[in-house]
Amino acid sequence: MKSRRRPYSEQHPFDAGGGVWSVPVPIPGNPLGYTLVYAIESPAGPVLVDAGWNHPEAWLALREGLGAVGMDVREVRGVVVTHFHPDHAGLAGRVREESGAWIAMHEADAALVRLMHDLEESAHRDFQADMLRRAGAGAVEVEEATGHRPRPPAVPDLILQDGDLVDLPGRRLRTVWTPGHTPGHVCLHLEDADRLFTGDHVLPAITPHIGIYPYDRADVDPLGDFLDSLEKVKGLGELEALPAHEWIFQDTAARAAEIGVHHEEKLRRLTALLGEAQEPLTIWEVASRMTWNRPWEELPPMLRGMAAGEAAAHLRTLEVRGMIRRMAGADPVRFVLHS
Ligand SMILES: [Zn+2]
Repeated sequence: MKSRRRPYSEQHPFDAGGGVWSVPVPIPGNPLGYTLVYAIESPAGPVLVDAGWNHPEAWLALREGLGAVGMDVREVRGVVVTHFHPDHAGLAGRVREESGAWIAMHEADAALVRLMHDLEESAHRDFQADMLRRAGAGAVEVEEATGHRPRPPAVPDLILQDGDLVDLPGRRLRTVWTPGHTPGHVCLHLEDADRLFTGDHVLPAITPHIGIYPYDRADVDPLGDFLDSLEKVKGLGELEALPAHEWIFQDTAARAAEIGVHHEEKLRRLTALLGEAQEPLTIWEVASRMTWNRPWEELPPMLRGMAAGEAAAHLRTLEVRGMIRRMAGADPVRFVLHS
Protein backbone atom coordinates (compact mmCIF):
# COMPACT_ATOMS: atom_id res chain seq x y z
CA MET A 1 0.00 0.00 0.00
CA LYS A 2 1.23 3.46 -0.88
CA SER A 3 2.18 5.23 2.33
CA ARG A 4 0.80 8.69 2.78
CA ARG A 5 2.27 9.04 6.22
CA ARG A 6 4.36 12.19 6.58
CA PRO A 7 6.61 13.01 9.52
CA TYR A 8 5.31 15.10 12.38
CA SER A 9 7.28 18.11 11.10
CA GLU A 10 4.93 18.21 8.09
CA GLN A 11 1.75 18.04 10.16
CA HIS A 12 -0.37 21.11 10.91
CA PRO A 13 -3.56 21.78 12.82
CA PHE A 14 -6.46 22.11 10.41
CA ASP A 15 -10.19 22.65 10.12
CA ALA A 16 -11.67 19.23 9.36
CA GLY A 17 -15.07 20.86 8.71
CA GLY A 18 -18.38 20.63 10.54
CA GLY A 19 -17.04 22.05 13.79
CA VAL A 20 -14.21 19.53 14.07
CA TRP A 21 -10.54 20.50 14.23
CA SER A 22 -7.52 18.23 13.89
CA VAL A 23 -4.48 18.96 16.06
CA PRO A 24 -1.41 16.73 15.56
CA VAL A 25 0.54 16.09 18.78
CA PRO A 26 4.02 14.53 18.54
CA ILE A 27 5.00 11.24 20.17
CA PRO A 28 8.71 11.99 20.78
CA GLY A 29 11.01 9.11 19.84
CA ASN A 30 8.25 6.89 18.44
CA PRO A 31 8.07 5.85 14.75
CA LEU A 32 4.31 6.43 14.79
CA GLY A 33 5.24 10.13 14.86
CA TYR A 34 2.09 11.77 16.18
CA THR A 35 -1.39 11.40 17.58
CA LEU A 36 -4.23 13.25 15.90
CA VAL A 37 -6.18 14.97 18.67
CA TYR A 38 -9.61 16.17 17.56
CA ALA A 39 -11.36 19.17 19.05
CA ILE A 40 -15.13 19.38 18.58
CA GLU A 41 -16.70 22.81 19.01
CA SER A 42 -19.57 23.31 21.40
CA PRO A 43 -21.21 26.39 22.96
CA ALA A 44 -19.91 25.16 26.33
CA GLY A 45 -16.29 24.81 25.21
CA PRO A 46 -14.49 22.29 23.01
CA VAL A 47 -14.50 18.59 23.72
CA LEU A 48 -11.30 16.73 22.81
CA VAL A 49 -11.09 13.20 21.47
CA ASP A 50 -7.78 11.93 22.95
CA ALA A 51 -5.06 14.22 24.27
CA GLY A 52 -1.63 12.91 23.22
CA TRP A 53 1.55 11.73 24.91
CA ASN A 54 2.56 13.22 28.25
CA HIS A 55 5.74 15.09 27.26
CA PRO A 56 6.61 18.81 27.41
CA GLU A 57 6.95 18.99 23.61
CA ALA A 58 3.58 17.32 23.13
CA TRP A 59 1.92 19.59 25.66
CA LEU A 60 3.26 22.65 23.85
CA ALA A 61 2.01 21.29 20.51
CA LEU A 62 -1.46 20.64 21.93
CA ARG A 63 -1.75 24.06 23.58
CA GLU A 64 -0.41 25.95 20.58
CA GLY A 65 -2.27 23.78 18.09
CA LEU A 66 -5.56 24.57 19.81
CA GLY A 67 -4.55 28.22 19.90
CA ALA A 68 -3.85 28.17 16.16
CA VAL A 69 -7.44 27.14 15.48
CA GLY A 70 -8.83 29.77 17.85
CA MET A 71 -9.35 27.56 20.90
CA ASP A 72 -8.00 27.98 24.39
CA VAL A 73 -6.95 24.87 26.30
CA ARG A 74 -8.29 26.51 29.48
CA GLU A 75 -11.79 26.38 27.97
CA VAL A 76 -11.78 22.67 27.16
CA ARG A 77 -14.99 21.14 28.50
CA GLY A 78 -13.95 17.50 28.46
CA VAL A 79 -11.57 14.88 27.09
CA VAL A 80 -12.95 11.61 25.75
CA VAL A 81 -10.18 9.06 25.75
CA THR A 82 -10.53 6.32 23.10
CA HIS A 83 -8.29 4.01 25.19
CA PHE A 84 -5.82 4.17 28.05
CA HIS A 85 -2.56 3.99 26.02
CA PRO A 86 -0.09 6.80 26.78
CA ASP A 87 -0.18 8.34 23.29
CA HIS A 88 -3.94 8.88 23.75
CA ALA A 89 -4.59 9.36 27.47
CA GLY A 90 -1.18 10.74 28.50
CA LEU A 91 -2.00 14.44 28.46
CA ALA A 92 -5.63 14.17 29.59
CA GLY A 93 -4.64 14.84 33.21
CA ARG A 94 -2.68 17.92 32.20
CA VAL A 95 -5.66 19.30 30.28
CA ARG A 96 -7.88 18.67 33.29
CA GLU A 97 -5.46 20.55 35.57
CA GLU A 98 -5.48 23.49 33.20
CA SER A 99 -9.19 23.72 32.44
CA GLY A 100 -11.14 21.68 34.98
CA ALA A 101 -12.31 19.46 32.12
CA TRP A 102 -13.82 16.07 32.79
CA ILE A 103 -12.05 12.96 31.49
CA ALA A 104 -14.26 10.17 30.14
CA MET A 105 -13.21 6.60 29.38
CA HIS A 106 -14.83 3.19 28.97
CA GLU A 107 -15.18 1.30 32.25
CA ALA A 108 -12.92 -1.59 31.15
CA ASP A 109 -9.96 0.73 30.49
CA ALA A 110 -10.75 2.81 33.59
CA ALA A 111 -10.40 -0.40 35.64
CA LEU A 112 -6.94 -0.98 34.11
CA VAL A 113 -5.89 2.59 34.90
CA ARG A 114 -6.94 2.12 38.54
CA LEU A 115 -4.98 -1.15 38.64
CA MET A 116 -1.88 0.61 37.25
CA HIS A 117 -2.13 3.22 40.00
CA ASP A 118 -2.38 0.50 42.64
CA LEU A 119 0.48 -1.65 41.36
CA GLU A 120 3.99 -0.98 42.72
CA GLU A 121 6.81 -0.61 40.19
CA SER A 122 8.58 -3.71 41.63
CA ALA A 123 5.39 -5.78 41.42
CA HIS A 124 5.06 -4.67 37.79
CA ARG A 125 8.56 -5.98 37.00
CA ASP A 126 7.91 -9.32 38.72
CA PHE A 127 4.63 -9.65 36.80
CA GLN A 128 6.40 -9.01 33.46
CA ALA A 129 9.28 -11.41 34.22
CA ASP A 130 6.96 -14.23 35.22
CA MET A 131 4.77 -13.67 32.15
CA LEU A 132 7.80 -13.87 29.82
CA ARG A 133 9.13 -17.02 31.48
CA ARG A 134 5.77 -18.80 31.19
CA ALA A 135 5.72 -17.97 27.47
CA GLY A 136 9.07 -19.70 26.95
CA ALA A 137 11.40 -16.67 26.79
CA GLY A 138 15.04 -17.33 27.74
CA ALA A 139 16.56 -15.91 30.94
CA VAL A 140 18.50 -13.19 29.09
CA GLU A 141 15.39 -12.17 27.16
CA VAL A 142 13.41 -11.97 30.40
CA GLU A 143 16.11 -9.75 31.89
CA GLU A 144 16.25 -7.46 28.82
CA ALA A 145 12.54 -7.17 28.21
CA THR A 146 11.37 -6.16 31.68
CA GLY A 147 11.57 -2.41 31.48
CA HIS A 148 10.14 0.56 33.29
CA ARG A 149 6.56 1.42 32.62
CA PRO A 150 5.34 4.87 31.66
CA ARG A 151 3.51 6.88 34.30
CA PRO A 152 -0.11 5.68 34.45
CA PRO A 153 -2.67 8.04 32.87
CA ALA A 154 -5.12 10.09 34.94
CA VAL A 155 -8.07 8.30 36.52
CA PRO A 156 -11.21 9.37 34.60
CA ASP A 157 -14.12 11.31 36.10
CA LEU A 158 -16.79 9.84 33.84
CA ILE A 159 -17.35 6.24 32.81
CA LEU A 160 -18.65 5.46 29.34
CA GLN A 161 -20.63 2.38 28.39
CA ASP A 162 -21.55 1.14 24.95
CA GLY A 163 -24.24 3.39 23.47
CA ASP A 164 -23.78 6.30 25.90
CA LEU A 165 -23.99 9.82 24.51
CA VAL A 166 -20.99 12.00 25.39
CA ASP A 167 -21.70 15.29 27.16
CA LEU A 168 -21.32 17.50 24.06
CA PRO A 169 -24.05 20.19 23.98
CA GLY A 170 -25.77 20.57 20.64
CA ARG A 171 -24.28 17.45 19.03
CA ARG A 172 -24.84 13.71 19.11
CA LEU A 173 -21.60 11.89 19.91
CA ARG A 174 -22.26 8.26 20.74
CA THR A 175 -19.93 5.75 22.39
CA VAL A 176 -19.31 2.63 20.31
CA TRP A 177 -17.47 0.07 22.46
CA THR A 178 -14.87 -1.64 20.29
CA PRO A 179 -12.76 -3.93 22.53
CA GLY A 180 -9.70 -5.61 21.04
CA HIS A 181 -6.73 -3.22 20.94
CA THR A 182 -7.57 -2.64 24.61
CA PRO A 183 -10.52 -4.08 26.58
CA GLY A 184 -12.14 -0.66 26.85
CA HIS A 185 -11.33 0.85 23.45
CA VAL A 186 -14.16 3.02 22.11
CA CYS A 187 -14.92 4.65 18.79
CA LEU A 188 -17.10 7.77 18.88
CA HIS A 189 -19.87 8.17 16.35
CA LEU A 190 -20.75 11.76 15.49
CA GLU A 191 -24.23 10.76 14.43
CA ASP A 192 -25.32 14.17 13.16
CA ALA A 193 -22.44 14.18 10.65
CA ASP A 194 -21.88 10.51 9.66
CA ARG A 195 -18.34 10.55 11.00
CA LEU A 196 -16.55 8.11 13.27
CA PHE A 197 -13.60 8.90 15.54
CA THR A 198 -11.89 5.53 15.25
CA GLY A 199 -9.02 5.89 17.75
CA ASP A 200 -6.64 3.01 16.98
CA HIS A 201 -9.39 0.55 16.07
CA VAL A 202 -9.51 1.34 12.34
CA LEU A 203 -6.48 3.10 10.85
CA PRO A 204 -6.03 3.74 7.11
CA ALA A 205 -2.75 1.86 6.42
CA ILE A 206 -1.54 0.13 9.59
CA THR A 207 -3.39 -2.23 11.92
CA PRO A 208 -3.39 -1.86 15.71
CA HIS A 209 -1.42 -4.16 17.98
CA ILE A 210 -3.65 -6.92 19.34
CA GLY A 211 -1.90 -8.71 22.20
CA ILE A 212 -2.74 -10.82 25.22
CA TYR A 213 -1.10 -10.13 28.58
CA PRO A 214 -0.11 -12.25 30.41
CA TYR A 215 0.55 -14.28 27.26
CA ASP A 216 -0.89 -17.54 28.59
CA ARG A 217 -4.28 -16.20 29.72
CA ALA A 218 -7.09 -18.54 28.77
CA ASP A 219 -10.00 -16.44 30.06
CA VAL A 220 -10.02 -13.71 27.39
CA ASP A 221 -9.87 -13.53 23.57
CA PRO A 222 -8.80 -10.02 22.53
CA LEU A 223 -8.40 -10.89 18.83
CA GLY A 224 -11.85 -12.50 18.79
CA ASP A 225 -13.19 -9.32 20.44
CA PHE A 226 -11.33 -7.18 17.91
CA LEU A 227 -12.79 -9.10 14.94
CA ASP A 228 -16.28 -8.71 16.46
CA SER A 229 -15.59 -4.98 16.93
CA LEU A 230 -14.65 -4.70 13.25
CA GLU A 231 -18.02 -6.25 12.38
CA LYS A 232 -19.71 -3.76 14.69
CA VAL A 233 -18.08 -0.82 12.88
CA LYS A 234 -18.97 -2.33 9.50
CA GLY A 235 -22.57 -2.41 10.71
CA LEU A 236 -22.56 1.39 11.15
CA GLY A 237 -22.21 1.80 7.38
CA GLU A 238 -19.98 3.96 5.24
CA LEU A 239 -18.72 6.67 7.60
CA GLU A 240 -15.86 9.10 7.30
CA ALA A 241 -13.07 7.97 9.63
CA LEU A 242 -11.18 10.35 11.91
CA PRO A 243 -8.41 8.08 13.23
CA ALA A 244 -5.89 8.82 15.98
CA HIS A 245 -2.88 8.26 13.69
CA GLU A 246 -1.99 8.61 10.01
CA TRP A 247 -4.77 10.52 8.19
CA ILE A 248 -8.53 11.03 7.79
CA PHE A 249 -10.09 8.65 5.25
CA GLN A 250 -13.44 7.69 3.74
CA ASP A 251 -15.40 4.50 4.37
CA THR A 252 -14.66 2.92 7.73
CA ALA A 253 -16.68 -0.18 6.75
CA ALA A 254 -14.44 -1.04 3.77
CA ARG A 255 -11.25 -0.62 5.78
CA ALA A 256 -12.65 -2.65 8.70
CA ALA A 257 -13.39 -5.49 6.24
CA GLU A 258 -9.79 -5.35 4.92
CA ILE A 259 -8.33 -5.55 8.43
CA GLY A 260 -10.53 -8.56 9.21
CA VAL A 261 -9.19 -10.38 6.13
CA HIS A 262 -5.60 -9.57 7.19
CA HIS A 263 -6.10 -11.31 10.55
CA GLU A 264 -7.90 -14.32 9.06
CA GLU A 265 -4.88 -14.82 6.77
CA LYS A 266 -2.57 -14.58 9.73
CA LEU A 267 -4.66 -17.18 11.58
CA ARG A 268 -4.44 -19.51 8.57
CA ARG A 269 -0.64 -19.15 8.39
CA LEU A 270 -0.38 -19.82 12.12
CA THR A 271 -2.46 -23.00 11.82
CA ALA A 272 -0.14 -24.17 9.01
CA LEU A 273 2.91 -23.34 11.13
CA LEU A 274 1.64 -25.51 14.00
CA GLY A 275 0.77 -28.25 11.54
CA GLU A 276 4.31 -28.31 10.16
CA ALA A 277 5.91 -28.41 13.62
CA GLN A 278 6.68 -31.95 14.78
CA GLU A 279 6.14 -31.02 18.44
CA PRO A 280 4.05 -28.71 20.63
CA LEU A 281 5.40 -25.14 20.55
CA THR A 282 5.74 -22.45 23.21
CA ILE A 283 4.38 -18.98 22.51
CA TRP A 284 7.95 -17.76 22.13
CA GLU A 285 8.75 -20.48 19.58
CA VAL A 286 5.61 -19.63 17.60
CA ALA A 287 6.45 -15.90 17.64
CA SER A 288 10.02 -16.56 16.50
CA ARG A 289 8.71 -18.53 13.48
CA MET A 290 6.13 -15.95 12.39
CA THR A 291 6.87 -13.22 9.84
CA TRP A 292 7.53 -9.76 11.30
CA ASN A 293 8.72 -6.55 9.69
CA ARG A 294 12.30 -7.70 10.30
CA PRO A 295 13.97 -11.02 11.18
CA TRP A 296 13.32 -12.30 14.71
CA GLU A 297 17.06 -12.15 15.53
CA GLU A 298 17.04 -8.41 14.79
CA LEU A 299 13.95 -7.55 16.87
CA PRO A 300 14.87 -5.68 20.06
CA PRO A 301 13.61 -7.25 23.33
CA MET A 302 10.66 -4.89 23.71
CA LEU A 303 9.40 -5.65 20.20
CA ARG A 304 9.90 -9.40 20.75
CA GLY A 305 7.69 -9.05 23.79
CA MET A 306 5.00 -7.35 21.68
CA ALA A 307 5.40 -9.95 18.92
CA ALA A 308 4.87 -12.68 21.52
CA GLY A 309 1.73 -10.87 22.69
CA GLU A 310 0.45 -10.77 19.11
CA ALA A 311 1.28 -14.48 18.61
CA ALA A 312 -0.47 -15.32 21.89
CA ALA A 313 -3.63 -13.45 20.85
CA HIS A 314 -3.81 -15.34 17.55
CA LEU A 315 -3.13 -18.68 19.29
CA ARG A 316 -5.89 -17.96 21.78
CA THR A 317 -8.41 -17.24 19.01
CA LEU A 318 -7.48 -20.51 17.27
CA GLU A 319 -7.94 -22.27 20.60
CA VAL A 320 -11.38 -20.69 21.10
CA ARG A 321 -12.32 -21.81 17.57
CA GLY A 322 -11.25 -25.37 18.44
CA MET A 323 -8.41 -25.47 15.89
CA ILE A 324 -5.61 -25.92 18.43
CA ARG A 325 -5.26 -26.86 22.08
CA ARG A 326 -2.77 -26.22 24.89
CA MET A 327 -0.96 -29.16 26.48
CA ALA A 328 -2.28 -29.91 29.97
CA GLY A 329 0.14 -28.94 32.75
CA ALA A 330 2.95 -27.73 30.45
CA ASP A 331 5.12 -24.90 31.86
CA PRO A 332 5.96 -22.95 29.75
CA VAL A 333 2.61 -23.36 28.06
CA ARG A 334 2.68 -25.26 24.71
CA PHE A 335 0.21 -25.40 21.85
CA VAL A 336 -0.51 -28.18 19.36
CA LEU A 337 -2.89 -28.62 16.43
CA HIS A 338 -6.16 -30.32 17.37
CA SER A 339 -6.03 -33.80 15.86
ZN1 LIG B 1 -3.08 2.40 21.21
